[in-house]
Amino acid sequence: MDALETFRAETRDWLDTHCPASMRTPMPEDERVWGGRQPVFKHPDSERWLRLNIERGFTVPTWPKAYGGAGLTPAEAQILKEEMQRLQCRQPLFGFGISMLGPVLLTQGTEAQKARFLPPIARGEIRWCQGYSEPGAGSDLASLQTRAEDHGDHWLVNGQKIWTSYAHLADWIFCLVRTDPKNKHGGISFLLFDMASPGVLVRPIKLISGASAFCETFFTDVQVPKENLVGAINGGWAIAKELLQHERGMISEIGRPALSWRRGRPHQGPRPARHRDPPRDGRPRLCAHLAPGRGRKRSRCRRRRAVVDVQVLRHRAEQAEVRTHPETRRPARARLGRR
Ligand SMILES: Cc1cc2nc3c(=O)[nH]c(=O)nc-3n(C[C@H](O)[C@H](O)[C@H](O)COP(=O)(O)OP(=O)(O)OC[C@H]3O[C@@H](n4cnc5c(N)ncnc54)[C@H](O)[C@@H]3O)c2cc1C
Repeated sequence: MDALETFRAETRDWLDTHCPASMRTPMPEDERVWGGRQPVFKHPDSERWLRLNIERGFTVPTWPKAYGGAGLTPAEAQILKEEMQRLQCRQPLFGFGISMLGPVLLTQGTEAQKARFLPPIARGEIRWCQGYSEPGAGSDLASLQTRAEDHGDHWLVNGQKIWTSYAHLADWIFCLVRTDPKNKHGGISFLLFDMASPGVLVRPIKLISGASAFCETFFTDVQVPKENLVGAINGGWAIAKELLQHERGMISEIGRPALSWRRGRPHQGPRPARHRDPPRDGRPRLCAHLAPGRGRKRSRCRRRRAVVDVQVLRHRAEQAEVRTHPETRRPARARLGRR
């Protein structure tokens, strides 16, 4: 048996022994575990499942063991993924820290930053949000205006972000700030700070469905320690783009099962939970509004909603692409024609 086959056998054995039967079922959206200072475990077994994975380093399998990972090679991580899919094991932990910030800190962070920020992400203790978009800086992200002024021992941050997903539930933010007003792309820095800092105000944006996944986030004289700057001053644009690569990867994973289902190609593994279990985030109300009644009409509405979800995610991936490669921007008409 070669090393990878041995790893597969050991992993299969571990999952078989440790994954509770209740964690081998499709996961409704509202049972996902996001961690944070006030974690929510809607399913009673999800906390135990998370603890077991943390001990094994499986919340962030490829990260070094020193930072809470399992130190797996990409091939081993792929095997772990396959074995988890085979048993239909639930992903134990979700978060922007795992999927976006962590990978960037691994390449761009100082040793002190890695030691401070990565282990709490791996253990699900801190939930992160993404402070990129502003009312006047969406596709043209580099026109962002939230500024950070050098005040000797700290940065003073003032400005506003928008569409900050789950900011009202997040503990910390990774934030793009302007540190040089005269230099567009070359005047942006990448800053980390605590959402509990004085001067941070979060206002959820209520959607037509009644849900509030997005927020407006306001900063008024927020003091941020100097050591929370990642990379060089005015060197944040390259870091921001690197993070968007990871965001794209994460989004493509979310959308893939639903898209293959839509196109009639059976997805490997169970059909995603979101299509079978009514989400409990307010969207059923929208569904009931659009398609009152029951049966086929209602389920058609549910399918339509899943397709819209995927379109939103695809749009987001396109936006991320345009941000990093403006030459790929297509006129809105062309994009509408494709759908
Ligand atoms: C599900 C979801 C979650 C999100 N979460 C976050 C988050 O956590 N943090 C965060 O910072 N942001 C988040 N965003 C914001 C997202 O990244 C924005 O959608 C993005 O910044 C685009 O900004 P905008 O909505 O202002 O669109 P705009 O920039 O106003 O663009 C609107 C449309 O016009 C097109 N367009 C713009 N300029 C041109 C041009 N010059 N030529 C041709 N067409 C053009 C765009 O392609 C787009 O189709 C989220 C968005 C979504 C959909």
